[in-house]
Amino acid sequence: DADALLARRDASFAPVQEHYYARPPQIERGWREHLIDTTAQVYVDGVNNVATLGHSHPRLVEAAARQWALLNTNSRFHYAAATELSERLAELAPAGLDAVFLVNSGSEAVDLALRLAFTATGRSRILAAREAYHGWTIGSDAVSTSLGDNPRALESRPDWVELIEAPNPLRGRHRGPDAGAAYLADLDAQLEGLGAEGRAALAGVILEPIFGNGGGVLLPDGYLAGVYDRVRALGGVCIADEVQLGYGRLGRHFWGFEQQGAVPDIITVAKAMGNGQPLGAVITTQEIAAAFAAEGSFFSSAGGSPVSSRIGLAVLDVLREEGLQENARLVGEAFKAALEGLATRHPSIGAVHGLGLYLGVELVTDRASFEPATRLADAVCEALLEEGCVVQPTGDHKNVLKLKPPLCITAESARFVTGCLDRVLT
Ligand code: PMP
Repeated sequence: DADALLARRDASFAPVQEHYYARPPQIERGWREHLIDTTAQVYVDGVNNVATLGHSHPRLVEAAARQWALLNTNSRFHYAAATELSERLAELAPAGLDAVFLVNSGSEAVDLALRLAFTATGRSRILAAREAYHGWTIGSDAVSTSLGDNPRALESRPDWVELIEAPNPLRGRHRGPDAGAAYLADLDAQLEGLGAEGRAALAGVILEPIFGNGGGVLLPDGYLAGVYDRVRALGGVCIADEVQLGYGRLGRHFWGFEQQGAVPDIITVAKAMGNGQPLGAVITTQEIAAAFAAEGSFFSSAGGSPVSSRIGLAVLDVLREEGLQENARLVGEAFKAALEGLATRHPSIGAVHGLGLYLGVELVTDRASFEPATRLADAVCEALLEEGCVVQPTGDHKNVLKLKPPLCITAESARFVTGCLDRVLT
């Protein structure tokens, strides 16, 4: 049973590998926005930003099976699927970003993006924001300081990382409509404080255009473009980490940076790209890619393999054919409005964050102090599981209920989640 398997997991896994829930159900199957456990209990999957199209999509099953039967091999061979996928990504990216690297994960994509920034500029320092998560590899971990993911993240930082404040207009130092300008003024002062030598060492900046592990809090208007202007004026390049955000989840926009009216030099993608198959990409300019190529070669054995690439292509086809970005907009807007409705009756809801199907419900002990209600968030998630909803806490204080369901979620399933949350909070 699930408990016995959990004991075997604990015995065989190296420690520190978290799972959801004190007593997690043993999941056996997935279908669209649903998960089904070994006792045939059905859950609405409220957090799955990996299975963007939904679970077990028949088109992906078919694409994978067909390609496996034909060929799967390392990416140094010449075959059609990786080229076709790279072309599609270049079409989806802003003009001028048409050099694609295919990798296996978000962390790898971020590491590669950092290396591109270093080689393109010949410099060594990176600006990264507090409260962000970018991955677990040495490079991506160095720019990750989300305390929800690693409570000791601030204890030591490699000296090539320059941390800037999380520009949170609700909880942070500057609040309200003018917060963006105030955070940018802080950044100016920080850059000034680096001195001429420090500024000349700046290779670039990495930011998520909406902070995912911060709970989906929208950046203040104009902030991202302001950061990009400053970094470029100093000769650095701008990395947008779209691993969680991109690929239509926001509804109105395919990419997160569009929401901020800013255009990066390097984009990282993963999660949604393979709908669960390990697949990621870095998309950049030919110029930045050429500087990297001058330093040596790049090769990832399974990155963009025939099977991964065929799945990646099928993901893009299904996204378009099923209108899932539009579904994210429509269901997302109704979902957010319903959650805001709950906030009028439940004082423990401090704010509802996000856009499209990238939502967060921030639980607080009281609205005036905005103190995070971490224990409540944990208890709410456990109770939601009993009701049939998989929802997880995120953020530095783990007090934001993360709602990032597959983009195929129906309005009815979204109402089900809202109804369960209403009952649980009551
Ligand atoms: N960047 C962001 C914004 C992420 O959310 C994540 C994963 N949560 C990563 C990078 C790392 O991706 P992966 O787990 O595929 O290595």
